[in-house]
Amino acid sequence: MPNGTESESRKLLGRLRDTLAEEGAGQERLDRITTIIAESMATDVCSIYLFRDAETLELCATEGLNQEAVHQTRMRIGEGLVGRVARTSTPVNTPDAPSARGFRFMPETGEEIFSSFLGLPIQRLGDTLGVLVVQSKDARSYTEDEVYALEVVAMVLAEMTELGAFQGEGAAMSARHVQQALFRGGTAQEGAAEGHVYLHEPRVVITNPIADDPHVELRRLEDAMATLRGSVDEMLGAMGKNTDKEQVKVIEAYRMFANSRSWVKRMQENVGLGLSAEAAVEKEQSATRARMESVPDAYLRDRLHDLDDLSNRLLRLLTGQGRDTGAEMPDNPILVAKNIGPGELLDYGKKLKGIVLEEGSVGSHAAIVARAWAIPLVINAKRILTEALNGDHILVDGDQGIVHLRPEDAVAAAFRDKIAMQTQAQQRYTSIREKPATTLDGETIALHMNAGLMADLPSLVSSGAEGVGLFRTELQFLTRARVPRRSELASIYGSVMDAAKGKQVVFRTLDIGSDKVLPYMKATEEPNPAMGWRAIRVGLDKKGVMRMQLQALIRAANGRPLSVMFPFVAQFDEFRDARQHLLDELERERKLGHTLPVDVKIGAMLETPSLAFAPKQFFELADFISIGGNDLKQFFFAADRENERVRKRYDTLNVSFLTFLEQIVARCAETNTPVSFCGEDAGRPVEALCFTAIGLRTLSMRPASIGPVKSLLRRTDLAEAKQVIDAARLSGAQSVRAAVMDWLTGRAETS
Ligand code: PEP
Ligand code: MG
Repeated sequence: MPNGTESESRKLLGRLRDTLAEEGAGQERLDRITTIIAESMATDVCSIYLFRDAETLELCATEGLNQEAVHQTRMRIGEGLVGRVARTSTPVNTPDAPSARGFRFMPETGEEIFSSFLGLPIQRLGDTLGVLVVQSKDARSYTEDEVYALEVVAMVLAEMTELGAFQGEGAAMSARHVQQALFRGGTAQEGAAEGHVYLHEPRVVITNPIADDPHVELRRLEDAMATLRGSVDEMLGAMGKNTDKEQVKVIEAYRMFANSRSWVKRMQENVGLGLSAEAAVEKEQSATRARMESVPDAYLRDRLHDLDDLSNRLLRLLTGQGRDTGAEMPDNPILVAKNIGPGELLDYGKKLKGIVLEEGSVGSHAAIVARAWAIPLVINAKRILTEALNGDHILVDGDQGIVHLRPEDAVAAAFRDKIAMQTQAQQRYTSIREKPATTLDGETIALHMNAGLMADLPSLVSSGAEGVGLFRTELQFLTRARVPRRSELASIYGSVMDAAKGKQVVFRTLDIGSDKVLPYMKATEEPNPAMGWRAIRVGLDKKGVMRMQLQALIRAANGRPLSVMFPFVAQFDEFRDARQHLLDELERERKLGHTLPVDVKIGAMLETPSLAFAPKQFFELADFISIGGNDLKQFFFAADRENERVRKRYDTLNVSFLTFLEQIVARCAETNTPVSFCGEDAGRPVEALCFTAIGLRTLSMRPASIGPVKSLLRRTDLAEAKQVIDAARLSGAQSVRAAVMDWLTGRAETS
């Protein structure tokens, strides 16, 4: 196909389709395909390399190279020109291969006599499955048209590989999506679960990559584009005057892409070269995804995301495959998604046994929901979406951040042992559920639970928690399309108090803003959202929502005791002002004739180091203080809690942090202000032990942690633990963890 004309390309694709339609094993098909491509392109060589594992490519078929090399020649990703194409997912086109960067001589293939080289990734939606190569003795440079036409062929090969057309002997030609695969991600919620994959957005399958009639395909593409444009216009039309400007901007960007001539033209050209409408869309989408990986500019990446999203919509229009494919939820469903918001997650309900995300973050609200449900959540499981199919057997190890997809029997058996051990341990905890967390030296620690959903409340009984030490109120706001009404909130808070049956519930007012923007709130661009306009700062500046929430809480209490705390207080005045608002609302409600709470406790979360140094009067005024260790730790060490790179760098049991906590406890003791700790670390037994050893007497944690924490506390002498901690501090150690762990293990061995 020296001049790469459209009709030549279509002819080539036509021959490929005939070959694929013929009976025959995968190897025969691949062999025939390399011959056809070499003939059509008038080249001496055509070879197809496929991945045999994530790191290694294998020569699977060739026309022109030594046949003995097939299934023998292998290279690692990045190695040689073929490996370079695979690593970069971009073509390499050179008239003088031996002088090209990265060239590796492979004597078994007889390659030295070929001068020109054109290699292209065989890729599907950003997932590289192999490399297609053509080579010639003469030093020719392949024209743009030829490269383009071969890209179209590579795209068809990718689709056919995905559909299993080239299955044969050996790992490189084994069926896709059947081998076991391991993914290492990050831990966002501990625990272990075994189940079956349930894809949040099932992958689109293209069964007809080659066009029968380009005219028909062009019309299909045109129709789908028209529908797409119509739906984008509708979205814009539905936005009122008050719609947030940022949201409008996003949809306007969608409209711009939907009307982009160059995007449509490229897809039409793909059809012209012989692809079906959906394959033409997918080819462009693959290119967009490859660009997305390499673009450093965040704004541009966002725009490419928009384009990717539009391509998805177009593909779903063309194939009729939507999110609601009717795929039944399997037994023990494990949700696998790129990312998911708390609202969508809550829609699935408590049926889910675990969650695996390709993206996600520890501090996200999806993570908070997973924590509330006590199901494992693994984040950053890169590429799992390209491998997982609905119904696949899957093991989620939330403790290690590891996911086994389609595991071998031995792996599954070992995993089941681990789950059994955890269940046994949980059963052991049931026996101490009604017993107090009293240490060997007679100190009793109050263990409360953290909650954020009505669905969490039954855990009050099953965990043996004394009350709810932190009720996060964000989720009710995040899962709605508008600000919830006061009556709605009052009813939810009232039900929470009913379910607590007289046990204390500490309601934390809305901690929202910056990155946790409500869909109906105007977004503000901030360079560093975690230290931005959030929580009480928003509450005090925009009083309406905070006052409405306070009224709802007063009405929910309806004569019962009420505990409210304000998040993210950084200085005394903020607490004083917020407290005054609550007092004002109480007065207003009284005047309106509502029954007031019998007792009101107003507390502050200590989440910023500055508050630890507030005037004594602050500690006197606060009815209680709750240390929000998640935020306090990130600001103390200047290490973003959502940044996986730095998050684990600083130990909670670091001498500086522990001593800081001890000083906070001492300041609270001076004024007899009750103090608790409600960050995630309170739920880790060793951390909980150290916190109590330095003086904390109330901890609030996720319900599943109460058993393990109580069990350790009941077996420990706090005074002895304190001695170990003090000795470690004196020794100059950076963290007391090693010393405490040594002491605990030594103790276990001698008992
Ligand atoms: C904390 O910061 O420790 C805390 C409990 O609040 P959140 O995790 O909701 O920020
Ligand atoms: Mg916090």
